[in-house]
Amino acid sequence: MKSVNRRDFLKLSGSTVIGLTLGSTVLKAQAQEQLSADDATAKALKYTPNSTVDGANCANCMYVQGTDGEQHRPCNIFPGKLVSADGWCSAWVKKPG
Ligand code: SF4
Repeated sequence: MKSVNRRDFLKLSGSTVIGLTLGSTVLKAQAQEQLSADDATAKALKYTPNSTVDGANCANCMYVQGTDGEQHRPCNIFPGKLVSADGWCSAWVKKPG
């Protein structure tokens, strides 16, 4: 009985490791994808890769992630996507500082 439980446990551990590995690969792949203006959430928030709002763009928004100077950066509002540094959406809030 004990050995069966141990085997089941090992099987479960193995698939968990595989699941986590695949999961992080998928997340990594998604994070590389640029946000399309046709994306449903992007449309709802009026995202554009070229801001027409004076002084407001993704590069100076508090939700942008990544490194200053990069053209395509992750955004907290669009998980797994990259937004354009020159972009804008209606969730824009000036980055503090
Ligand atoms: S919230 Fe909108 S404006 Fe701000 S970085 Fe994300 S897409 Fe750009």
